[in-house]
Amino acid sequence: MQKQDGRSTGPRSLQQALLRGAMLKCPACGVGGLFHRYLKVVDQCPQCGESLHHHRADDAPAYFTIVIVGHVVVSLVLAVEIAYRPPLWLHAALWMPLTLALALVLLAPIKGLLVALQWALLMHGFDPDAKEEIGDRLAPPSA
Ligand SMILES: [Zn+2]
Repeated sequence: MQKQDGRSTGPRSLQQALLRGAMLKCPACGVGGLFHRYLKVVDQCPQCGESLHHHRADDAPAYFTIVIVGHVVVSLVLAVEIAYRPPLWLHAALWMPLTLALALVLLAPIKGLLVALQWALLMHGFDPDAKEEIGDRLAPPSA
């Protein structure tokens, strides 16, 4: 796998990349860490040098986290309400901490999965044949 500006040129397995991203590892090698802080993606993999700064995650990780956590928590709230009819204070004491904990636990793996998806599908600047991006635009052709 040759490198071109820190971008690998070999074949990319979508399934393997998604698994590595969800495990918070570099989608290219699976060894280096994907984040250097809670949700800050490293510019380059510390292990293999793969450029990872091309990702465009924006609000997608938060959106998918809200969808997943909402479906889990609302289902549990309804099931517990129908089965036990607990007082409202007990609902609040149960579901608010669970919602917060689930969101914090799922946010990083979901962001890692989305970065890996972009890497595996050669989106944005992850394509080794693409020109270097300037902000959200491609660089003008050099003369
Ligand atoms: Zn790597």
